[in-house]
Amino acid sequence: MRVLISGAGIAGPALAYWLRRHGAEATVVERAPAPRPGGQALDVRGVALDVVDRMGLLGDVRKARTRMRGSSMLAADGTELFRSTEFAPSSGRLDSDDVEILRDDLAELVGRAADGVEYRYGDAIAGLEQDADGVDVRFASGATGRFDLVAGADGLHSKVRRTIFPAAAPHHLGAYVAVYTAPNVLGLDEWQVWLRGEEIGAGAGIYTARDNAELRVNVGFMSDVLPYDRHDLDAQRTLVRERCSGLGWEIPRLLAAMDAAPDFYFDAMAQVRLDAWSSGRITLLGDAGYCPSPLSGQGTSLALVGAYVLAEELARSGVGGLAVYETRMRPFVELNQALATENPGGPAAPESIDRAKVAITL
Ligand SMILES: Cc1cc2nc3c(=O)[nH]c(=O)nc-3n(C[C@H](O)[C@H](O)[C@H](O)COP(=O)(O)OP(=O)(O)OC[C@H]3O[C@@H](n4cnc5c(N)ncnc54)[C@H](O)[C@@H]3O)c2cc1C
Repeated sequence: MRVLISGAGIAGPALAYWLRRHGAEATVVERAPAPRPGGQALDVRGVALDVVDRMGLLGDVRKARTRMRGSSMLAADGTELFRSTEFAPSSGRLDSDDVEILRDDLAELVGRAADGVEYRYGDAIAGLEQDADGVDVRFASGATGRFDLVAGADGLHSKVRRTIFPAAAPHHLGAYVAVYTAPNVLGLDEWQVWLRGEEIGAGAGIYTARDNAELRVNVGFMSDVLPYDRHDLDAQRTLVRERCSGLGWEIPRLLAAMDAAPDFYFDAMAQVRLDAWSSGRITLLGDAGYCPSPLSGQGTSLALVGAYVLAEELARSGVGGLAVYETRMRPFVELNQALATENPGGPAAPESIDRAKVAITL
């Protein structure tokens, strides 16, 4: 089976890995010219850790995990309201078995695991036409190809999704978030600092990365859907500055570092809720198919598990396996999406995450 995967985030390379393990051919086309850096520290937990283990990556993933010693909540004038050496808002209890890892570190490990996968960076699908036996693909570069299956792993704003389900728009959850790297001008030592500006509807979480050399700055604000150009990063930085400067403390200084950040990322907190994930020989996985939003803390785990289940069902039954992929994954997806809507004020509470751990059998 020849499979074309759109998107080299987490879901795409994970699917490519599992397809290769099952003896299929995998090509990944990624719009960006190279693997995209950046992103928050993400949690890999529950059954997703089993998937990582089966990929032979558990040791490397644990080695690359963040090593926070604790966290502080600050007031706008910098006064420490409370601190904890047991808990960090990004990941819950610091002694838990879950692994918190920077998004780009995980993406690199997953991408490296897959042998014999063709990666086409700096290209994208420009046209798809399917018939009973395959899918004809036209690439933006002008190249063409025919595949047995096309998988959209191209994230929250998936173009593959728009092609097969043009009416499906993400459900906005009332907030936006920006994440970027800054030098560790605060001198933090494996520590997280959080601020909540309830009166301006904004918040920030800052933590160390790369042996304290860097900070990952997360700033967000509540808002209905905003009309902005997703390719105009300057306009997005201006929005963030306008909405978050009032948080006080060192935030204006950290916002000034946004312009030089090599990995500025800005997006809506949103979910993708679809009645079906496939149309004929074209299917979706990860955020493209069932983004649970950063509020769930489960987007990466869903992507890893989805890739595993999809590849397994394709290996068992070919394209006919798409229906089983969906039947197996849907309850797990719905439970994880509910974590976000049940926790609108912040990442999902650890006690609700336990429910997710038992929601699917590999
Ligand atoms: C740079 C970056 C930073 C992120 N930071 C965070 C974060 O801080 N917090 C959080 O909760 N989640 C973040 N995410 C999303 C997070 O990675 C996903 O929720 C989760 O890991 C599931 O991964 P995914 O592979 O489905 O989607 P993603 O990781 O979003 O990967 C999708 C990939 O598809 C590519 N792509 C998009 N459109 C096309 C196209 N038309 N053709 C080809 N390729 C395309 C993108 O460039 C990207 O590499 C980030 C994603 C990216 C790309």
